[in-house]
Amino acid sequence: MRPLQMVDTRTQYLKIKPAVDAAVLKVMESSQFIGGKVVNDFAANLAAYNQVKHVIPCANGTDALQISMMALDLKPGDEVITPSFTYIATVEAAALLHLQPVFTEVDKHTFCMDADAMEKAITPKTKAIIPVHLYGHAAEMEKIMAIAKKYGLFVIEDNAQAIGCEYTFRDGSVKKTGSIGHIGCTSFYPSKNLGAFGDGGAIFTNDDALAEKLKKIASHGQSKKYYHDMVGCNSRLDALQAAILDVKLTHLDEYTDARRKAADFYDKAFASNQKITTPFRAAYSKHVFHQYTLILNEVDRDGLNNYLAEKGIPSMIYYPVPCHKQKMFDTFGGSSYQLPVTDWLTERVISLPMHTELDEEQQASIVSNILSYINR
Ligand SMILES: *Cc1c(COP(=O)(O)O)cnc(C)c1O
Repeated sequence: MRPLQMVDTRTQYLKIKPAVDAAVLKVMESSQFIGGKVVNDFAANLAAYNQVKHVIPCANGTDALQISMMALDLKPGDEVITPSFTYIATVEAAALLHLQPVFTEVDKHTFCMDADAMEKAITPKTKAIIPVHLYGHAAEMEKIMAIAKKYGLFVIEDNAQAIGCEYTFRDGSVKKTGSIGHIGCTSFYPSKNLGAFGDGGAIFTNDDALAEKLKKIASHGQSKKYYHDMVGCNSRLDALQAAILDVKLTHLDEYTDARRKAADFYDKAFASNQKITTPFRAAYSKHVFHQYTLILNEVDRDGLNNYLAEKGIPSMIYYPVPCHKQKMFDTFGGSSYQLPVTDWLTERVISLPMHTELDEEQQASIVSNILSYINR
């Protein structure tokens, strides 16, 4: 059996090596490393894939979120509502920009922003909402967009874990996540569903004026070379990463299918176990399984984690400390929040190996070891 890893980017690379290597060599021979046709072509192909008018490539997903918030003309102290049960990057940029992060609760089943709790957190200072499509499952966007419209708020989707995910509206229409809010952000960190061979990110929008502004901010506030209209930053996706991503984009749907197939295998294997809750799949969301995350019911999680590690099976806790309890947010009032669902989930979740290269022998071994620990 091949050794088990949380993600296996190497085997994935070896399967498409000739195309990736050729694309990389081509960039090296052209020596156009920053900007240019390769980056523009990738942005256009990604826009077509994600059914969105504009894609602004940038250096990473965290920058994508920061640039998005910079484009909304927010003032210090303006409030941005995000779930606490997410990766720190969702929230960090808000604090960096002297905005006030407001932490809200997640739904116990989908792990994503609870729209009713979010609405209760809205104040006259609220300006933006950042739902996160955590683990590859969509947040309830139809409800979130309706609330945002009612209060005149911007919505920035954190789509870093859900590229390829689709959302089905009540009228039957379907949109890709990242194209539903005013702005969508994604990451090409190597372990993400569309991963580069280094850092990368992108911003999505259907709004022409916002697109111009986002592009400007990512490029030193520049309207034309050496003319700077506003304070921006330097955030670029380099041509080597764009070339690699352009090749991988053509495989993204098959990668998603492989993840979903692996998830089906796990689902079936754990279906009848009282101590394990397998990931919920809401009817409105296609799940793209960035992570495969179980909720453990009355199981010693550390004990299971150690037991699996001894057998050579990795497992991870995403995330061991929710944002509102991070020291970083002490001065933002983080410790004053009561988020029982977030705390409950934080104590019980465990993520299993999930990637495009898992085979059934590997999965059977993961499952049997988990069950032998749990049923002993
Ligand atoms: C990975 C990730 C980010 C940040 O992306 P980077 O490219 O690592 O900066 C933001 N939000 C979520 C939910 C993520 O998983």
